[in-house]
Amino acid sequence: MTATIRLPYLLDFYPLQDEKYTRIHQFFTNLKVGRFTTTKCRDCEKLHWQPRAVCPDCGSENLEWVDLPKTGEVHAFTAMLLGAPMGFEKDLPFVMALVKLDGLDFKILSRVDGIKHEDCKIGMRLKFKTVTRDDGRVFFRFEPIG
Ligand SMILES: [Zn+2]
Repeated sequence: MTATIRLPYLLDFYPLQDEKYTRIHQFFTNLKVGRFTTTKCRDCEKLHWQPRAVCPDCGSENLEWVDLPKTGEVHAFTAMLLGAPMGFEKDLPFVMALVKLDGLDFKILSRVDGIKHEDCKIGMRLKFKTVTRDDGRVFFRFEPIG
């Protein structure tokens, strides 16, 4: 006889995305329509990653949502060969990369789809994509251009 196991909330690696659970719900709302965005402080002009509810530099809550470049390159990467978080075992192996977005001075940690880790190279050009879970939650990844 098999039993259905309900995972504790802490084992769910995707954030709860609506207004009830997070002050950066706009990030996920934007992702759902294909926009890759973050917050920018209107007071000190600092661009943040990850999106913030409060500016970490000056403490202001006077933030605006701005679009990020959807292209960049691999700055560094690693391969997840085993020991993936629960629920991701079937995806092994996969690539995780620090992505240097075009024109910006910060890097974003992201999964990279569509490439074997043996073929991934530093400097490889990447483009943004969205992925939607079966429960409607959305997140982003990158994939090679071309
Ligand atoms: Zn600020």
